[in-house]
Formats: sequence, C-alpha cells, structure tokens
Amino acid sequence: MSDFIRQIIEEDKKSGKYAKIITRFPPEPNGYLHIGHAKSICLNFGIAKENNSVCHLRFDDTNPTKEEIEFVDNIQADVQWLGFDWQGKLFFASDYFEQFYEMAIRLIKQGDAYVDSQNEEEIRQNRGTVTQAGTASPHRNRSVEENLALFSQMRNGEFADGVHVLRGKIDMSNENMKMRDPLLYRIRHAHHYRTGNDWCIYPMYDFAHPLSDAIEGITHSICTLEFDNNRAIYDWLMDKLFDSPRPHQYEFARLNLDYQVMSKRKLLELVNENLVKGWDDPRMPTVAGMKRRGFRAEAIRLFCERIGIAKNNNRIDMVQLEACVREDLNPITPRVLAVSRPLKVVISNYPEGQTEALTGQYFPPDVDKTGERSLTFGREIYIEQEDFSENPPKGWNRFRPEGYVRLKFAYIIHCDKVLKNEAGEVIEIRASYIPESKSGEDTSGIKVKGTIQWVEKSTAVAAEFRLYDRLFDVADPEAGEESFKTHLNPTSLSTSNGFVEASVLNDSKDLRYQFERLGYFWQDEDSSTEKLVFNRIITLKEGYKAVQSGEEKQNSKSKIQKEEPKVPTLKPQTISPPTTHHPPLFDHSYLAAAKSAGIEEKLVDNWGENEVKAAWKINPDFKFSSADFIGFLGLVADGTLKSGAAKLVFAEMVATGTSAQEAVQKLGLNETIDLGALVAQIIENPANLDKVVAYKCGKDSLMGFFVGQAMKLSGGKADAKEVTAVLKEKLGIVG
Ligand code: ATP
Ligand code: MG
Repeated sequence: MSDFIRQIIEEDKKSGKYAKIITRFPPEPNGYLHIGHAKSICLNFGIAKENNSVCHLRFDDTNPTKEEIEFVDNIQADVQWLGFDWQGKLFFASDYFEQFYEMAIRLIKQGDAYVDSQNEEEIRQNRGTVTQAGTASPHRNRSVEENLALFSQMRNGEFADGVHVLRGKIDMSNENMKMRDPLLYRIRHAHHYRTGNDWCIYPMYDFAHPLSDAIEGITHSICTLEFDNNRAIYDWLMDKLFDSPRPHQYEFARLNLDYQVMSKRKLLELVNENLVKGWDDPRMPTVAGMKRRGFRAEAIRLFCERIGIAKNNNRIDMVQLEACVREDLNPITPRVLAVSRPLKVVISNYPEGQTEALTGQYFPPDVDKTGERSLTFGREIYIEQEDFSENPPKGWNRFRPEGYVRLKFAYIIHCDKVLKNEAGEVIEIRASYIPESKSGEDTSGIKVKGTIQWVEKSTAVAAEFRLYDRLFDVADPEAGEESFKTHLNPTSLSTSNGFVEASVLNDSKDLRYQFERLGYFWQDEDSSTEKLVFNRIITLKEGYKAVQSGEEKQNSKSKIQKEEPKVPTLKPQTISPPTTHHPPLFDHSYLAAAKSAGIEEKLVDNWGENEVKAAWKINPDFKFSSADFIGFLGLVADGTLKSGAAKLVFAEMVATGTSAQEAVQKLGLNETIDLGALVAQIIENPANLDKVVAYKCGKDSLMGFFVGQAMKLSGGKADAKEVTAVLKEKLGIVG
C-alpha cells in the first residue's frame, strides 16, 4: 500500500536524508480520540512499523484551559487498544516549556521576534486581508533589549492577560496571511494540568508544534490539510533555529464521516449537554464509543487502510465503516439464537414437562470455522413478534395463521390458533409441531419457505437489547446554518427486552455473536449475571431499514443461513420526522438516507425526484419519515408493491404519515385480488357488450378502456400489467 506520503518517505530513504524515519501522533488532551484520529494513528504508527521505527505519542498540551489528565489517560488507552505501541516514546509538549522559552529568547536576540503591545482587535485589524497587505505594529521595531526585558516580565507575571504578545518578525505583506508576524506566545494566567502555576505565558501551536518535532528528532510531521498554510511558519522556524536534518511537515485529507461530527469540541458538547451517555456512548464516533459498541480494532484499522490517504478533503460514507465491521465479524462470530421482542408459542402436541436436546452449528458452511452447542427444545418457546403476521403482505414466508414455518435447528410448526388480549394484540400462539420434520432428518414432506429463530422458554435467559442507529439523521450535520445538534436522530437508540439461548451463559463475557437474523451483538459493560445487556454492534446487512417491512426472498432453505435473511423491524414503527426538516433540506435527506440504506439509486431518484418532490410542493408539512420512505421503497424493490398499488400506498403515507406497511394494511392491499373475477365482471357486463365485440373484431385500442375499468373496480389496487394479461386471455377465449 503506497500513498503520496509513503512515496516521499521512500525517496527520503533512498537519498539517505535521515538515519531513521520517525513520526509522531500529537493529540491535544482536550477530549477523547475519534475515528479521524484513528486514521492519523494508523498512518503515523503504520509508517513507523513499516520502517522498523517508532512513532512518538506526544501530548500537545500547550493550552492550559481545556486540557485534562482524564483525556491523557484515555488517549493512551485508545492508542493501545487500536493495536499500536509508542515503545516508551511518550512525550508532553509541556515538558518543553523551558526549551521553548529559550528558543523564543534566541529569536528575539536574532531580531526575529518582538513583543507587541497591541490588543487582540488591533492585531487582527492590522493583519490586513488576502488582497491587502498588513500594517506593521508600532512596536515592531522595539530594540532587542526592550523585547528581552518585556518578555522576561511577561514570564514573571507582571502583566495581565492580553497586554502583550510575542510575535515572529516575518513579513506583514506576505501573501500567506499566516506569515504576517504570527503570534508565538500569549499571556494566560491559568492553571495547567501538568505544570500547575509555573507559567503564565503559553506558546501557540504554530510555535510549540514545530519545535517539539525538532526537539524529538521527528523526520516526517504529518498533519491534516488545514495546516497547509502553517507549513511556512514551520519552515521559517526550522531555518531560524535548527540545522539539518530537520523535520518536514506534510498534509493529508482529514477524515469526515457521514452522519457524524468529527470534532472534539462538538463531541464534548454532546457529552456535557447529556445528549449522549458519555464519551464512550456506543453511538459516538469516538474510539471509546466504537470499542464499547463492539467494533474491533481490526475493523477500524481495515477501514483506515481502505479509505487511504488523499490530498483532497472529502466525506466518507458511513456504509464503508459498517461494511468493514461486518467483514471483520462475519468470519469469527458464532451464530446463536435470540429473540428481541418475544411472542410466546405453545406447542400443544408436545408433551408437557418434556424437553429435548438439539444440536446447533455455530457457523454456516461458508464460514471457515466449526463448532456446535446443544439447544433445548420444549413445549413453550418464544419467537420474534415480527416473525408473525395476522395479515401478512404478499410474499410473506414467516409465521401466519394456519401457516407453517421452520424453527431453526428444530421442527416445522403449524399455527393453530392466535390468542389476543383485550386490546386486540396478539399475545400468544397455539401451534403444533410436526414430529417427523426435525432438522437434518426431515421426512415430513412439508415444504416451508421461512425459517425463524426461537428460544425455549424454561431455559431462556432474559436480556436487554440495545439497538443503535446513526447518531445524526442527515449526512452532513454541520452543513446548515443551524446547530449540528438539531440533527440528532431521535431514534438512534432503542431498547427491547427479550431472550437469548442458555448456551451464552457458558461463554466468555466478551464473546461477540451473530444473533441469527438480528445482527451482531456483544455484552455491554452494563451487563451483569443478574441482567444481561447486549449491544447491537451492527445489523447484518447494509440498508436493513429498507427491508424492515418487506419479506425476504428465500431461494431455498439451505441458503437461508448464508443469505442472512432480512432483519425484522427492531425500531419503533412510527418514527417522527425530525422537526428540522425544512424545505431546502427536505428531499436531500430523504434521498440520501434511502441511498445510504442501500436502495437502488435509480429507484430512489425515480420516487424521490418525482413523487416526493411533488408531494412536498403540495404540502410542505409532509409527514412520513426517511425510515418510512425507505420501508416503502423496500416494498417496491422486492415487488411487493406494483406500480398502481405503490402510488396508492405512497399517497396514503403522504396524507397520514403512516408507514408503508400500515398503509398496505389500511388499503387492504395485502388481500389478494381475484383478477379472474374482476375481469369477468367487466366483460360480462351487458353495458360493455358492444366494446367486447368490437375488441374481438380487432379494435385493440379498447384494451385501455378495459384496463381502466379494472383499475376503477379494484380501487386502483390491481396491477395494470397483470390485469392486461388476464384480460387478453379472457377476451381471447370468451366466446
Ligand atoms: P479535533 O478538531 O477533533 O479536536 P484536532 O485536529 O484539533 O481535532 P488534535 O488532538 O489536535 O485534534 O489532533 C491530533 C492529530 O490527529 C493531528 O495530527 C490531527 O491532524 C489528526 N486529526 C484530527 N482529526 C482528524 C481527522 N478527522 N482525520 C484525520 N486526522 C485527524
Ligand atoms: Mg486541536
């Protein structure tokens, strides 16, 4: 793997410029590390590793007001967790304060620095603009003696904050505004977390950072693009203070991730305002958050390697990170059974008080690992609520009244009876099992399309499931004028209580699993033997929302495991649209969300550009959420909703704000239309007799009329293509 920085290093090695390549990672301890830092860590420590060398971990702690030891400790822990080692080269810029001070004095003595007594506003004003040169400070030509005296008084605490600053004497008309006498030191009467009250002058980043690199013998100082213009100061300081070989600064594009913010300051706001549950909240883009959620360092390193090192800033789609997490987890996680929202099923023909042991393979055939465990089966089990539907949509393969379904590793069961509570909610299913249908030795001859997971009731272990979604509900929360916090996704965390199979109690607490059909999970640190708590690390598939209300298309039973059937809805059905969706942002977020949920672009554009925009124009208070839009497109994509029906459903969603699934139910689209009867009704209608005759005599154009009639009679629910086919058939043979 080579990028432009590695190429530079190769050349420097060839030319023998440096005896040894040394890099550094210089975090400011004012927050926790995030995935952007991880990119920088992988780059800097990666280069060191490739060159059998070392990368220094240096805390850039020159700003006394924001830095804390808590951050120092956690940053070290995170770097180690990511799999990197600074080999004892742990440094603090604050340890160099005395050296910085001496170098400032050298600059003053060389006539390269002066004490300026303008206030902040004057300094800013006199810096000029991109098109206008700056104006020299009236103090620019102070004598060396006067500068030395003032600077020493500054250090001794004789002045209040802001009274004087030390500036490099470079060039007030330089094209690069950073070079217009940059600030090197300022007065801050503040307590520093390491040096206490020893200092009341603190060096600026532009001074401290290059000097730290030089003091440590760094060769390649790699930072992000926004420091491009600061490089001139870096080089100026090297020229004034150091001999070669000296470090050089190189810039690469910082990482920006969609649906996240990537700044410690903003992340700190989320933490301080309790908008998340701390720095390690599993929804945060922090290393600590990702770790707690269950991402492995391997996945993060893979991601950093994939996105590479570029010179242009861009945004990376969250899908890429999620894909790396799946890629990492898929080959290592045992598959076990869990039910996140339980529905009790009593198998009436299974003897009371009896249980049996079944064997379940931990891994599907396409994973290069083996292992099995024993599962208990019995008369009472739990299945996923979402796997049962009283009024299933077309193509439903899971459990339904009078339907069959296979229980993974167990038997086929039949739904005999549905029990409801007073509110009409399904609370229990009475079923019977087919004794000859045991997995692996099935002689029943019954063909079932769906396989679902289950947990036996008497051995089931109760667990809380924490399901995470994206922290923000727009791709770029920082894009608009409004605060990024207005774009927090209100449903980024949802919890449910369910059960996992008993075997997990025998496993180590930090084992990661794939809960069949639900996603990848592991125990949160809140988990205890009294109460198991599982974090969903990631869903099984990209764009899981797209299929939440659609039914899986299973080609064959044996493929079910491999195909990772779609995940049942784990999110609340009705997701209230974020209040901040005002017109200009509207279609954007809808379309972007659907695309990043994995819906085919063309389909998204078709519906988005035409229907969504049209609906939006008519009614800007337009109700349904992105998740509902995705759910809807999922039904269109898998053919559940044909064009006419899709339009009806869409209109219903626009009008009432319901989900596609609810609209389907409400419109009765899940009831199949008897096309034969419908067509018969049209062509046997005496009022249509002359038209039928005319058609049969060759007037083909009348087909449109018949189809129109059929659409009308079906209330728009019939599929025009199917109707046409039946009409053609019937009009051909009706005699
Ligand atoms: P933040 O704005 O999040 O506080 P920062 O650049 O101020 O970021 P530092 O602690 O100063 O944070 O950064 C340490 C190192 O990590 C720097 O070299 C910086 O360039 C790099 N870095 C910070 N953010 C990113 C990012 N998003 N992508 C790549 N590298 C980053
Ligand atoms: Mg910073």
